[in-house]
Amino acid sequence: MFSHLQPTPIDPILGLMAAYKEDPNPQKVDLGVGVYKDENGHTAVLKCVKEAEALRLKLEDSKTYIGMAGDLSFNSHIEKLAFGPAHQVLLAGRVVTAHTPGGTGALRVAAEFIKKANPDATVWVTNPTWANHVSLFQAAGLKVKEYSYYDWETKGLKFDAMMAELATVPAGDVVLVHACCHNPSGMDLNFAQWQQFAELAKEKGFTPLVDMAYQGFGLGLDEDTQGLRYLADLVPELLLCSSCSKNFGLYRERIGAVSVITADSKTADIARSVLLAVVRSIYSMPPAHGAILVSHILNSAELTALWHQELAEMRNRINNYRQLIIDKFKEQGIAQDFSFITRQHGMFSFLGINKEQIEQLRKDYSIYMVGSSRVSIAGLNHSNIDYFAKAMAEVLK
Ligand code: PMP
Repeated sequence: MFSHLQPTPIDPILGLMAAYKEDPNPQKVDLGVGVYKDENGHTAVLKCVKEAEALRLKLEDSKTYIGMAGDLSFNSHIEKLAFGPAHQVLLAGRVVTAHTPGGTGALRVAAEFIKKANPDATVWVTNPTWANHVSLFQAAGLKVKEYSYYDWETKGLKFDAMMAELATVPAGDVVLVHACCHNPSGMDLNFAQWQQFAELAKEKGFTPLVDMAYQGFGLGLDEDTQGLRYLADLVPELLLCSSCSKNFGLYRERIGAVSVITADSKTADIARSVLLAVVRSIYSMPPAHGAILVSHILNSAELTALWHQELAEMRNRINNYRQLIIDKFKEQGIAQDFSFITRQHGMFSFLGINKEQIEQLRKDYSIYMVGSSRVSIAGLNHSNIDYFAKAMAEVLK
């Protein structure tokens, strides 16, 4: 029966990564993949993670199963990171969390959970969104529709259109929002817009799903959760998918969490049983390694302080490069307005250049970015920023 299989196209980003790897040009620049890189173009293991790994080696005394919800200490930490230690949803016992294989695992579990709660639900995603969102929800048999979000003309948000479209979403549907550092555009809702969104969700009764893959990469650990926390204050039900891939640099360890926020603690108990049944039927129990590391870091005041420092370094480096790109473009005589780059947050920016220009950058200069002109800012460093700005000046002529 395998001979009947048809080839499945792979995510274009993975193809781009492969092409970059094979490119012999020593000046090649990778602005494709959404992974943090330091000034040397390296994705290093954080120092706080190294120390937590040493602790784990010393303290771990068993490899027995950890249970379907995963590491309970990790779950408690991740809830506090997201909502703050004393948020009413935590105090009222309205949050159920399971640690998952990455943020992707969290989204997949959330999708199956939604399917159980309402098999007819449509999941509404931003236009555009992280490509995998669509596949993840469709794989659970859910319908996916887009709502207006990014405005290619103004390089801002289509907020009025977004609100008008979401006003038609019925109770029982799910609206996915990015907590911060929108992937791929870098354009986030401001707090006033979050408030309006939260009020709409409350009024219409749709269920928000907040995808938080970059907490700490935007404005700061707490600042990046302002919208989420306000939303949780207002609406009775909510889903949250978190990831520790970027902010702890634990990409390959696959560590994230799914949290279900219910109207009361009695519903939370039922939600827990459904959530764990979903986990059981997909992978039974999550891998422990990443959760143990995060727990060790957050259990120690010293390691937490070190983590805050390392996270701030990553965030500041990216933010400094947002301004540096604009300065270097000006130095190269580029007249177009790229000031929008400093209004965006997180790893990514849409440059807003066309397909031919993207192709020319790749063919003539070995500069790789996604076909939408999304660039991963952390791919830039002092050794390649001038080369990148010069190449941009050439293709924009
Ligand atoms: N959501 C968004 C918006 C993302 O950009 C990513 C990572 N690219 C994820 C979720 C999943 O992250 P991971 O599975 O690597 O933890």
